[in-house]
Amino acid sequence: MTERTFSIIKPDATERNLTGKINAVIEDAGLRIVAQRRVRLSQAQAEKFYEIHKERPFFGELVSTMTSAPVVVQVLEGDNAVARYREVMGATNPDNAAEGTIRKLFAKNVGENSVHGSDSLDNAKIEIAQFFTDADIVG
Ligand code: GDP
Repeated sequence: MTERTFSIIKPDATERNLTGKINAVIEDAGLRIVAQRRVRLSQAQAEKFYEIHKERPFFGELVSTMTSAPVVVQVLEGDNAVARYREVMGATNPDNAAEGTIRKLFAKNVGENSVHGSDSLDNAKIEIAQFFTDADIVG
């Protein structure tokens, strides 16, 4: 089934000029980038985006990392895009990520792991709506 998922190329990656290399992995995996924008997340935006993690010990670090430099927010479209992009990203901790995944190739550590991808279709819709309107997405 064709789906859309939400992706963020995180500050550790934009700072190292890895946007193009990460986009190449995404496109080579058969996912189409149907919307994309470079933005600097505000503290409030980052806190809202990661709300479900607010009780976790790393929440403060997560928010400060995500606001430390620009990010690239994206909508990816393709067959089973949510699960497919999770596969392409690799495990949260790059030490556990499979060969060829974005996190294995580029992530620095669990906190600076280069990309975000939605974990369900419902969350994808919620996350996409935080950054894009329907008119921004050209499939
Ligand atoms: P994801 O869906 O693979 O991104 O992983 P999670 O939803 O579990 O966590 C969200 C994000 O929080 C991760 O991508 C990391 O950036 C960050 N994170 C998760 N666990 C840790 C941790 O133990 N330490 C730090 N510093 N960050 C973490």
